[in-house]
Amino acid sequence: MSEPNSFDIQARCSQSSARAGIFWTPHGQVETPRFMPVGTLANVKTLTPAHLEAAGAQMVLSNTYHLHLQPGEKIVASAGGLHRFMAWKGPILTDSGGFQVFSLSEIRTINDEGVIFRSPHDGLMIHFTPERSIQIQNELGADVIMAFDECPPSPASREQVLAATERTYRWLERCITAHQRSDQALFGIVQGGVYPELRQEAAQQLTKLDLPGYAIGGVSVGEPAELIEKIVKVTTPFLPPEKPRYLMGVGTYREMAQAIASGIDLFDCVIPTRLARHGAALVKGERWNLKNSPFREDFQPLDETCPCYTCQNFSRAYLSHLVRAKELLAYTLLSIHNVTELIRFTQRIRDAIFRDRFSEEFAEWLIPSQSGKTLEEVGFSDQDEP
Ligand SMILES: [Zn+2]
Repeated sequence: MSEPNSFDIQARCSQSSARAGIFWTPHGQVETPRFMPVGTLANVKTLTPAHLEAAGAQMVLSNTYHLHLQPGEKIVASAGGLHRFMAWKGPILTDSGGFQVFSLSEIRTINDEGVIFRSPHDGLMIHFTPERSIQIQNELGADVIMAFDECPPSPASREQVLAATERTYRWLERCITAHQRSDQALFGIVQGGVYPELRQEAAQQLTKLDLPGYAIGGVSVGEPAELIEKIVKVTTPFLPPEKPRYLMGVGTYREMAQAIASGIDLFDCVIPTRLARHGAALVKGERWNLKNSPFREDFQPLDETCPCYTCQNFSRAYLSHLVRAKELLAYTLLSIHNVTELIRFTQRIRDAIFRDRFSEEFAEWLIPSQSGKTLEEVGFSDQDEP
């Protein structure tokens, strides 16, 4: 086994920048490329750790912002840390709270010091700074922690994005100074909106800090889906090839396949559990609404090629019945399938990279989207869950 927080590249695609690797953490390995399920409040909604393990999950996400609001990092730390608290033995990544502060909160003040916002939970004013975010993440104890960043909305002017990108860099330097635990890998986040030169400058600046991993943030925030591919494509060449790369908040087939072709290794998104709660299944790249009439008498499994517990045991008709009756089991069974499906998609790409057949076998997903629509408009948005 390699050093914790190191990354080994095992295979490369000869026709794209795709690579297969292993990211080593203190709680086990993460085989890349890989989709990571999101457990915002220290649980992946409706799933137990046993379900997640069976679905092939390796690293799962949790969220600093939400866990700070409830139950608070002190309780998680008293429980023995996030792994013990949520009974997940594998690797965990915590987001810094930056994205949620800017997307979910009523912000009172934002300046170089940090952000003051009103808690949507109990109305109290909360002060988040880079130091505070890192301190909370040190207490939560995830394997990978994220720098506190300013995530500008889309659309935003070049001036707005430039200011946010520069502030994100100054905050990153403070995050590095504040970080107290050598067993946790601190990843930096490249911002820069839809402006290629800002993305590239940010990536070059971050690379100089020699972090254990790098993320591309601020995508899937309302821009047309094809821009995600463009942003990733212009940014990755400026990130060090020997470090893991994580595209935040993206979990759609086309956008993941194209990002992998540009050299991205890790993804997260709330899509699989969010769609499940809307009675929808992800099948072969499509979104199926189980309430639709034809499913009422369709006794096939969702996907006969899927090894998940749901597909191995239940029919579309049964799932349609549960969804229509609003039975809670519907959400668990659909989440099991949807999470398995997205992890399996990235696992299949990983297998294809080892055989150097990625470009051929995933050609249908490597054609750029030309709809001009956002992921929200096509029913695959990554808006936060609670
Ligand atoms: Zn399935």
